[in-house]
Amino acid sequence: MCIRDRPVAIDFGIGKLTKLPEIIEQFDYKKGLLISTPSMVKNGTANKLLELCDGKLVGIFSDIQPNPTLKNTDDCASVLRNHDYDFAVAIGGGSILDCAKVACFMATTTDATSLYFYKEKLVDHPGIPLIAIPTTSGTASEITSASVLTDTEKGVKAPMNYKYFYPKYALVDPELTLSCPPTVTAASGIDVLAHSLEAFYGKKHQPYTDMAAEKAAKLVFENLLTVYKEPHNVEARVNMSLASVTAGLAFNLTQTAAAHACSYPLTQDFGITHGEACAFTLAAFWRLNSESDDEYVRNRLQQFSKNCGFKDANALADFIDYMKQEMGLCMVLEDIGVTSVELLDELVSNSFAPNMQNNPVDITPSLLKEFYQSLVPASVTE
Ligand code: ZN
Repeated sequence: MCIRDRPVAIDFGIGKLTKLPEIIEQFDYKKGLLISTPSMVKNGTANKLLELCDGKLVGIFSDIQPNPTLKNTDDCASVLRNHDYDFAVAIGGGSILDCAKVACFMATTTDATSLYFYKEKLVDHPGIPLIAIPTTSGTASEITSASVLTDTEKGVKAPMNYKYFYPKYALVDPELTLSCPPTVTAASGIDVLAHSLEAFYGKKHQPYTDMAAEKAAKLVFENLLTVYKEPHNVEARVNMSLASVTAGLAFNLTQTAAAHACSYPLTQDFGITHGEACAFTLAAFWRLNSESDDEYVRNRLQQFSKNCGFKDANALADFIDYMKQEMGLCMVLEDIGVTSVELLDELVSNSFAPNMQNNPVDITPSLLKEFYQSLVPASVTE
């Protein structure tokens, strides 16, 4: 079991954003870069944060794509490096936080990100300290050591995972998620469920990650459709933020498994957003793993399903399909544009990222092909 070298301080609660100047003061930081989204610059939020921090946050970088690229981290790093920033604040969804975590390290080198992305060099020292502020309930990037980047030239999307990527501080203010549009709420919320379920059935699970996974999954089952239908329901938003951080604490130690492995080509080659791509196989992998030859695995999944309030593992999987249907997420291969055997074969061969090995049932290419073909449109009701 790994021990975290740099546990992230987490401050959670409605209105916590106003604590930002105090945190900057506490660490005695002098000159910070705000890393954010173009929309937050446009709607004035970024400038308001600069004002709030009274001269300590002095620049803004927002040239970051959804699914951040190696170029995004290189560009952000060069701004940090060339203007001698001694800290950064990242506010946004998983893409912004993932980009910022890597850029803060890259700023302390003169290298290009690709050297580290392809492991020609290792991340061996801390980067510029980062205060991470999530605006979605999804990736939990604010408390993990992982960043997922894309090399657009080579068409490779892959996670980088180094202890030096932990942010210094996670400021989690659920109020920031109130303006999250329903499509983003749906995709990021179901990503939280994927983190919970995969942390639970992943081979690297531990008793305490199991507890966190169960707590997070229950919160998603009870609150995701509510925040999707009632975006301003504060209590449900708080619960989804709590679920996101709790699932993050679990999968940061266990890593993810099969549904996330399959999500990478779905995003990279078929343009499906991260959460929706994870959701695509989530219910089916729950069913498949609950029918494992290993009695221990079968019993664990059945018991977890009951603890979450379902009759059995199939009922839990049916409810995932029901939520996906209610939120208009992709259900079958045709929905994502896999319309030929050639495309399916390509999808299968690109689905074997290392986290596939963390699945409790061994997945072979032929099994995975059958599995993808067996996905059917949801016809379930609550
Ligand atoms: Zn995820």
